[in-house]
Amino acid sequence: MRIAKSAVAATLGVGVLLAVPAPLSARQSPAVNPSASADEWRAHGRDATEQRYSPLDRITRLNVGRLGVAWSWEIPRRGARLESTPLVADGVMYATGPMSTVFALDARTGEELWFWDPGIPDEEQGGPSVCCGDVNRGLAMHGDRVFAGLLDGRLVALNRHSGRVEWSVQTTPAGRDYSITGAPRVLGDRVVIGNAGAEYGVRGYVTAYDGDDGEQLWRTYTVPGNPADGFESEAMRAAAETWTGEWWKVGGGGTVWDAMAYDAELDLLYIGTGNGSPWSRDHRSPGGGDNLYLSSIVALDGRTGEYRWHYQTTPGDDWDYTATQPLMLLDLEIAGRERRVIVQAPKNGFFYVIDRVTGEFLSGQAFADEVTWATHIAETGRPVEAPGARYGRTGGAWLSPGPTGAHNWPPMAWNPGTGLVYLPAKNNNFYYEMTEGLDYVPGQWNTGTVFGSAGGERPERPEVAGSPTMLVAWDPAESREVWRFPTRCDNGGALSTGGGLVFWGTGDRLVAFDAWTGDELWSADVGRGTASPVTYAVDGVQYVTVLAGRAVTGERPDADVPTVWTFALDVGA
Ligand code: CA
Repeated sequence: MRIAKSAVAATLGVGVLLAVPAPLSARQSPAVNPSASADEWRAHGRDATEQRYSPLDRITRLNVGRLGVAWSWEIPRRGARLESTPLVADGVMYATGPMSTVFALDARTGEELWFWDPGIPDEEQGGPSVCCGDVNRGLAMHGDRVFAGLLDGRLVALNRHSGRVEWSVQTTPAGRDYSITGAPRVLGDRVVIGNAGAEYGVRGYVTAYDGDDGEQLWRTYTVPGNPADGFESEAMRAAAETWTGEWWKVGGGGTVWDAMAYDAELDLLYIGTGNGSPWSRDHRSPGGGDNLYLSSIVALDGRTGEYRWHYQTTPGDDWDYTATQPLMLLDLEIAGRERRVIVQAPKNGFFYVIDRVTGEFLSGQAFADEVTWATHIAETGRPVEAPGARYGRTGGAWLSPGPTGAHNWPPMAWNPGTGLVYLPAKNNNFYYEMTEGLDYVPGQWNTGTVFGSAGGERPERPEVAGSPTMLVAWDPAESREVWRFPTRCDNGGALSTGGGLVFWGTGDRLVAFDAWTGDELWSADVGRGTASPVTYAVDGVQYVTVLAGRAVTGERPDADVPTVWTFALDVGA
């Protein structure tokens, strides 16, 4: 269906819907925010487990065909693309738009309550350098505040009732190479934020601040600095033994630009770390080595930020294979034993299940059709690299996946009834070729690799198996695919509901699938560049919201308008 852009405030069947109370999830993890009601969406991944499962079940497989537009609201700022997950609390929706804008809307009507533009200039006007667009993935919330990480490296606390800035801290050094696109997370009254910039050449870290006043509580680096300056911790000293040469000159990389999850009972914060700066290990660490803690899931003490354990998905990363892809905490029965696990499908194409208490590797299975850099993950948890994957030694190689990854930023969702993770995945390849030398230039990409035809003659691009993009329903306990929905567009995040539905932005449509079978049950054309949908209820009415509409700046009159779309049963067209 093509939907009208005007808000439709139709009468809703409130009386009937109120008769069905929302059941609580049968599987309430200890990490769930206890104050969050089933009707709300108070954290980036709905709760600290990042499962993106809402128990709301008023919209079902039987009635989802009756969804229509309850309201829509055009975001009054253009930019690159929408990747934001809205938060909903106390009948109000909070979200981020292009160029780190933040806004609040009435969750029932879409009426604007406030809109805040931090006024960050474009890159051409001296604004921050960003590898992949002026995007923002969302907010964190605690008490009367929402927290946003801004493109220019600030972390701000806004009063969520007025939109007034209550405090603001610069979390990155001066200069243009760091940026922030990810959502902050809250651990009790602490706010944690990472950063981005590993293509330019930076050193990754996460920082925790006091949510009340922005006072810095701790900062933990993900890769070692120059040993001559001394190490911040024993973990950095140990990591330095896995590096060679003068890696610190280009920063090393390992930025935490997106994924975090938190287990409140263990007080463990899990972070996903990014690729190396530069990409090519032969430039970065010419004597080899695993280069800890690049491309890793790292568990930190929530109170102190101290290192607890790590699992490295791609030792000695050579390929921009970040492990910053969304993390999720699950309690699974695996081989007859209850396990508290953390799961991730990083760029490198393997779906990992790790014991989240100890960091023990449990399984790693390819979820993409095209994974050619490694043949499999050994029982030790270490990938078995394919011959020729280290392109610095062969002169160049076509490999899958490429730097865009077999999975990128779009969040996965979980359904405790089906036992499936719904994973937005991709198939792609890339020609990796190392530059002869590396002249580090601040403010520019410093990947140490040759892009495009600059490298001269190259072997013909091999066909890529499988569809370019797809939604994969994955059984993490059995490490196998159960169903898939193939697509061609770049896609967004997934949402899973107690009504047995999975909502997913395919790139230009918001689609509702049967969570068990993958059958498409409903869709709406919302414009290109779908972000991550959420669901919530106000006054007994269940809504589904997604931000969509590629927000192109400049001469594109036909470009979609960035819009917040909200759907409900029996309204609109
Ligand atoms: Ca990267």
